[in-house]
Amino acid sequence: MHDWIVVGAGFAGAVMAERLARVRGEKVLVVDKRDHIAGNAHDLHSADGILYHQYGPHIFHTNSDAIVTYLSQFTEWRPYEHRVLASVDGMLVPIPINRTTINTLYGLNLDEAGVAAFLASKAETVETIVTSEDVVVAAIGRELYEKFFRGYTRKQWGLDPSELNRSVTARIPTRTNDDDRYFTDSFQAMPAQGYTAMFRRMLDHPNITVMLGTDGLKLPASERPPRMVYTGPIDAYFDHVHGPLPYRSLQFRHETLNQPQYQPVGTVNYPQDQDYTRITEIKHITGQQHPCTMLTYEYPTAEGDPYYPIPRPENEALFKQYEALARAEADTWFVGRLATYRYYNMDQVVGQALATFQRLDAAVPRTSQIAA
Ligand code: FAD
Ligand code: UDP
Repeated sequence: MHDWIVVGAGFAGAVMAERLARVRGEKVLVVDKRDHIAGNAHDLHSADGILYHQYGPHIFHTNSDAIVTYLSQFTEWRPYEHRVLASVDGMLVPIPINRTTINTLYGLNLDEAGVAAFLASKAETVETIVTSEDVVVAAIGRELYEKFFRGYTRKQWGLDPSELNRSVTARIPTRTNDDDRYFTDSFQAMPAQGYTAMFRRMLDHPNITVMLGTDGLKLPASERPPRMVYTGPIDAYFDHVHGPLPYRSLQFRHETLNQPQYQPVGTVNYPQDQDYTRITEIKHITGQQHPCTMLTYEYPTAEGDPYYPIPRPENEALFKQYEALARAEADTWFVGRLATYRYYNMDQVVGQALATFQRLDAAVPRTSQIAA
């Protein structure tokens, strides 16, 4: 018999299962609806042997030494700094916007101070920065907002930036120097053998049983362990009693080309045209050498697997109603991007899971203690 059921084998579920099994010595049943582990970070080899990410590009980056130390028990790393170009006005220019972006787009040769002055001259005064439109126009003005952010955001979210919390576009900084990295975190690297291999090691423990292709909410009560960690959509857990929480989905198109390289960097964004938001060429990210290459196109959709919580006030209010129900659930712990309705990166989910485990461990007597 198992002490716990962990619903979902993504980052949230795998960290919780690993800690429960290793630290508390408890028996854990991990279930996932899908036929694989690693959740949205799942990677696999194509028929041609190219390692690719089934649910879009996943680049690991963090400022937390503790999270790196934790994950390093299960993987070695390949250093990788992500670079992204945006296809704007017929040119490929760095995003986040930097000195090169401004000089290329406007045919200028500004130094850092010049770029800062240029952006300041374009920036609009916004009394209170509330939305994803406010935060961009206050930093770089309306023209650059239109070129880089408005179209991309409308495509990605099916909403205007003015309808989204500032936190969404605030993920993308503006720079006046030449730094063209997408992230500036102190640690940026990819699991050397991929994410799925890392998850396999996390879940490889005699106390852990993994059951795939299984809906954790549909197990008969007699087969359900007494305690649960739930990492799926929070509204599904409560049968959508307060109505469905909105999530944004994507369709991925993976295409293999019979040539070693297609584009100069890992990802090219398309803020002005195309139905897809971006094309990622995964070999830049994994560092794999192969005579063929593989591209992933991302097409945003309203229907499909829930990938993104949609950060806006009415959704947060609805989430709060579900959160109140979750607080009253004595034997279930809610962890992860869908269960806590937060637009979290992988490292943030790992951090959240490790912190939740600490609280759980302090609050719930260990099975061995109960037995004694
Ligand atoms: P998930 O990975 O979604 O795992 C939840 C699992 O629960 C799923 O496998 C699901 O099948 C399962 N499940 C749900 N309900 C049930 C049920 N009833 N029964 C059984 N199983 C169930 N983060 C980064 O740090 N860097 C990136 O570059 C990055 N890129 C991303 C790109 C895309 C396109 C997307 C969508 C996300 C990206 N992320 C990135 C975010 C990253 O995917 C998440 O932070 C992380 O995967 C969340 O882990 P999780 O365990 O909370 O959720
Ligand atoms: N964004 C944009 N243009 C870009 C890149 C990002 O408008 O070229 C906005 C868009 O709203 C996007 C958000 O910034 O959803 C966050 O971008 P990020 O690349 O972090 O998205 P993710 O990788 O999570 O899909």
